[in-house]
Amino acid sequence: MFRSGIGYDAHRFGEGRKLVLGGVEIPHGRGLEGHSDADVLTHAMADALLGAIGERDIGHHFPNNDPTIRGINSLEIVRKAANLVTAAGGKLINIDSCLIAEAPKIGPHIATMKANLARVLGLDERRVGIKATTNERMGFLGRGEGMAATAVASVEMPG
Ligand SMILES: [Zn+2]
Repeated sequence: MFRSGIGYDAHRFGEGRKLVLGGVEIPHGRGLEGHSDADVLTHAMADALLGAIGERDIGHHFPNNDPTIRGINSLEIVRKAANLVTAAGGKLINIDSCLIAEAPKIGPHIATMKANLARVLGLDERRVGIKATTNERMGFLGRGEGMAATAVASVEMPG
């Protein structure tokens, strides 16, 4: 049987932060605020993985008050979520995602992000989708207050 999981995350921009997306540090002058490296794309993917196996969300598994999460590379969070899928008897088939932000330009970094995520997820790169769009200058994303990401994962389960 196939199961799907959906993930959504958003972080606001803050001063003195690095911008990390899909495990890639992107020069942008400001980064996203958060307890970890605030990698919004990777967080959405982790929630999609957890959702596919009926687990609770990333905040439950990786709580903000856990000192071991502070500044963590979020690729490790998605790796642990993928391990939970395996432990539940699931086989990850593919994961797709969409980043939503007015800036910076994501296109030049997508290949490296895909390689990073394929590696930690144990997937062929063709099974990792990363797309980017703007919010057409509407709302908090359109005003450049932060970034958001959505993700969906498909998992094959024995029953
Ligand atoms: Zn997050």
